[in-house]
Amino acid sequence: MYQKLQADYLFTGKKMLHNGEVLIAQPNGTIEAIVAAADAGLDIQKIEGVLCPGFVNTHCHLELSHLKGVIPMHTGLVNFVMHVMAKRFYEPDVIEQAIVAAEAEMLRNGIVAVGDICNTNHTLAQKQQAAFRYYNFIETSGWLPAIADKRFKQTQELWQQFPGPKSIVPHAPYSVSTALWQKMVPHFSGNVITMHNQETPAEEALFKQGKGGFLQMYAQMQTDNSFFKPSGKSSLQTVAPYFTHAAAVILVHNTFSAKEDLRWIRQYTQQNNILLFTALCINANLYIEQQVPPVSTMMEADITITIGTDSLASNYALSVLDELIMINKRFPKIPFHTLLQWATCNGAKALDMDNIVGSFTPNTQPGILQLKGMDVLHNSMQHAQVKRLL
Ligand SMILES: [Zn+2]
Repeated sequence: MYQKLQADYLFTGKKMLHNGEVLIAQPNGTIEAIVAAADAGLDIQKIEGVLCPGFVNTHCHLELSHLKGVIPMHTGLVNFVMHVMAKRFYEPDVIEQAIVAAEAEMLRNGIVAVGDICNTNHTLAQKQQAAFRYYNFIETSGWLPAIADKRFKQTQELWQQFPGPKSIVPHAPYSVSTALWQKMVPHFSGNVITMHNQETPAEEALFKQGKGGFLQMYAQMQTDNSFFKPSGKSSLQTVAPYFTHAAAVILVHNTFSAKEDLRWIRQYTQQNNILLFTALCINANLYIEQQVPPVSTMMEADITITIGTDSLASNYALSVLDELIMINKRFPKIPFHTLLQWATCNGAKALDMDNIVGSFTPNTQPGILQLKGMDVLHNSMQHAQVKRLL
């Protein structure tokens, strides 16, 4: 028997309907149609608030879930990275329990698909239970050119263990040597690639002048940096040519991206037929750097925005809705249907899953959410709550 749902508002993934349209779905959540109330027949279930497709989280590190509350807030990125490297090692059962709990939390928070960064195989057992749709980003890093071979071999071994969809991705410009980039590039072809981008001003200082906080980090890690020659360009403009054959690129954070860089990358990806997305992780940016990402500038540059939660190492929750609530607080003029599009349809496109999730398109299975507590008249999401209906 079909489910027939009618709410005050129906967000399709792309637009907001408010004339009492009815969403019709099969019991397993497969979407049949959106029809006018007069054509929907009997047994229509009335729902308070907004009906919305399931959320897509385009940036997460499920394997770091055991670090919740472990790393202090507001340390800045360089110190944060050092903390993660020093503290990520725990007993396997502690790591596994945290992964199970974090996945359950995402499910409760209405998330249906996740772009997840993997440096280890710790999440593999949980992912094989297939509660979610994952795009597994197998991440590699290594600043010393001499270790590129070894690191890339480890990454390929990890890549083989994970189910698809998946791709091999760089961690960040400041943690990947030219030698390692060159090994990765042939694997980018036709895939979705993601990278932590411009999360601290130190990244610009390193690539433009060979200075800044990362020099202290390399020194503390006893990593020789004498081989490195600054390009004189921004980190993003330095590494973007490696992405030329990728199908899509998701740039994560962009907390300190300059307007020129955002315009430049938009044009560069357009010229090279690469789909470009940014992943906003505003709560993580506030946690680590106390900085709000340049959302208005991204919108002015016509960049397609998606939402990520980052990990529990730098966030108090894995909730796309909590990210939207913070963006709504900091940017109250952005219409909330635009925010919902970032969290659904745009995220699904970024992960190349828009044929399954992200909108109420017939024959897809996007999950159906009820959003309550939205103040539509005043464009406020501050009291919004989410419940998964299907
Ligand atoms: Zn991250």
